[in-house]
Amino acid sequence: MVVWLRRGTALLAIAILLSVAPRPGPARADSADAPASLYFPQTGFAIVDPRFADFFIRRGGLRTFGYPVSREFTLLGFPVQIFQRAVMQRYPDGHVQLLNLLDTGLFPFTQVNGAEFPGVDPRLTATAPQVDSPNYSAAILKWVKAIAPDRWNGIPVAFHQTFVSTVSPRDVFPTGRVNSSLLTGFDLEIWGVPTSRPAFDPHNSKFVYQRFQRGILHYDATTGVTQGILLADYFKDVIMGERLPKDLAIEAQTSPFFAQYNPLKPGWLDRPNDLPNTDLTRAFEPSPIIVLDPGHGGKEIGASFTFPDGTVLREKDLTLQIALKTAALLRAAKIPVILTRTTDSWVDWQMKDVDGNGVVNLADDLQMRVDIANNAHATLFLSIHLNGDDNSAISGTTMYYDAARPFSDRSEYFAGLLDREAVAQLAQIGYNTVNRGVQTDSQAVGQDSHFYVLGPDAARPIQMPGALAEGLFLTNPHDAAQLRDPRTLDALARAYARAIELYYSG
Ligand SMILES: [Zn+2]
Repeated sequence: MVVWLRRGTALLAIAILLSVAPRPGPARADSADAPASLYFPQTGFAIVDPRFADFFIRRGGLRTFGYPVSREFTLLGFPVQIFQRAVMQRYPDGHVQLLNLLDTGLFPFTQVNGAEFPGVDPRLTATAPQVDSPNYSAAILKWVKAIAPDRWNGIPVAFHQTFVSTVSPRDVFPTGRVNSSLLTGFDLEIWGVPTSRPAFDPHNSKFVYQRFQRGILHYDATTGVTQGILLADYFKDVIMGERLPKDLAIEAQTSPFFAQYNPLKPGWLDRPNDLPNTDLTRAFEPSPIIVLDPGHGGKEIGASFTFPDGTVLREKDLTLQIALKTAALLRAAKIPVILTRTTDSWVDWQMKDVDGNGVVNLADDLQMRVDIANNAHATLFLSIHLNGDDNSAISGTTMYYDAARPFSDRSEYFAGLLDREAVAQLAQIGYNTVNRGVQTDSQAVGQDSHFYVLGPDAARPIQMPGALAEGLFLTNPHDAAQLRDPRTLDALARAYARAIELYYSG
């Protein structure tokens, strides 16, 4: 499956072409444009490896690559990082190249989100100059110019112009001395060579595409703009099996990369035999932004317990205390936290019709909690509760997740960490809780029904993995007596903070 390592065809000759061109030296440590790590809040990912960072900076940065959309991870034996427009790969000697994303095996798909791209034209690629031909460098660039035109069928597609302006002199030679004879070589390094002629989208005559080895140029007649399709972003979606447009989902189903991202398996890899020497652990988990949601509030007191001495414990008060303690622990670990409430009130305290259905009720309060998480682009959601039941004999710890969302594998993984840590932290203060384990919300509220804050039925459903923690049963006398001891709230907070830290760092 190491398809992009195949050598010997003219199409894969770019690396050889470039091996005769001196690569720019590594950025000096004291240089302003060589930061140790580049972090992009837009996607929540950083470029940590200095060789990836150097390549990013020296080949046009955001303009060429778009934002990083993964961490560094191992794909088929090589460290890689996915950007919106390209996938960087690092060789053992440290040099960086882009994957030939559009070669058979990686991203052979032609139907993406309603667009239909041209496929590889083997009769065309057979006309490309041979690698071992004399003056190969000049010949291949001349060939590209002939195949990727600026005007096509009278339309100003600007494909050659876009190709040659990919990497600017300032990108590669920031100190000013420009070796312009090398520049087009760097453009080739980014795009590879054309593998199709320009072609209309069969479904939209305003769109013209041209396929290259590592990207597809797209001319849009409605805006007059020519740019690369964000194909690598779709490649990531294929690996995750999430967010895929219907047409791509159908085409990608038999791909060895399809829906491989699974935290419940070693290496977060669903079918390791399909992708040898691959480790997807946390590959697509952005820098954490945690939303903690203390259940209930205001007139919604949740479960409660009245002790013989008249003391009443209310769920809404305990969940807030646990959430505040958890937030403090996470902030001490430099993990950003947002709380849906910090006082004893409804989150929808202004009584707005948040879900727009004409009535103001509990659903609006719950929708507002979901909206807070979605609007913050949170990466993980934890709703904190204590359980209640008419049968006071029932006690113990349950962690719920929703199985109907596209990221349910990650939610289940998170719920598992929460359960393990809660049982362990309670044991550490001497309380052996009944471990009721990880369950789906449908197990709690009935088949095809879901918790509002986790499930798919909200007016605007939650967009990130998450869980709902029922730490103990407030309606059970033993659990309730334990919850009266502040050490228990501390133990649950420690458990939740630890589970969140483990989710991101193992
Ligand atoms: Zn509750």
